[in-house]
Amino acid sequence: MLASEAPHAASGRVGPERESADSREPMTPTVLLVEDNEDNRTIYMDVLEHAGYHVVTAHDGEEGVHLACALRPDLILMDIGMPVIDGYLATRLLRADPCTRGIPIVAVTAHAMEGDREQALAGGFDGYVAKPATPREVLHEVQRRLGPPSLP
Ligand code: MN
Repeated sequence: MLASEAPHAASGRVGPERESADSREPMTPTVLLVEDNEDNRTIYMDVLEHAGYHVVTAHDGEEGVHLACALRPDLILMDIGMPVIDGYLATRLLRADPCTRGIPIVAVTAHAMEGDREQALAGGFDGYVAKPATPREVLHEVQRRLGPPSLP
């Protein structure tokens, strides 16, 4: 019976207020990495996870579209040249679907010739990182858009 005294005395933040604060998970931003090349998937995922982001990978555009609606990631990194459906079509589909319309999409692509940046931005991408993109460049783009992950 007296056990209840300690928490009440210890903190003014007991009760519903505290409960609601506790139910809020620390927010770890989720990045969906859509990339058909295994080496690139591994490299970019490693650097992003090491920096504290939660990373989910998709192997082609179709899987990326499905995962994007299921997961509602905070950001999508999208390769352009991919099997099944490429990054341009995947991005068009994501933009057309209310489920995924608002998610920022950054193209990470080897199509880095003159005009491709403009084409990517016109194609519905929010940003563009040209390959060969170092893991650090990809990380900086993610950090610029999402901010650092909150510490646990
Ligand atoms: Mn590719």
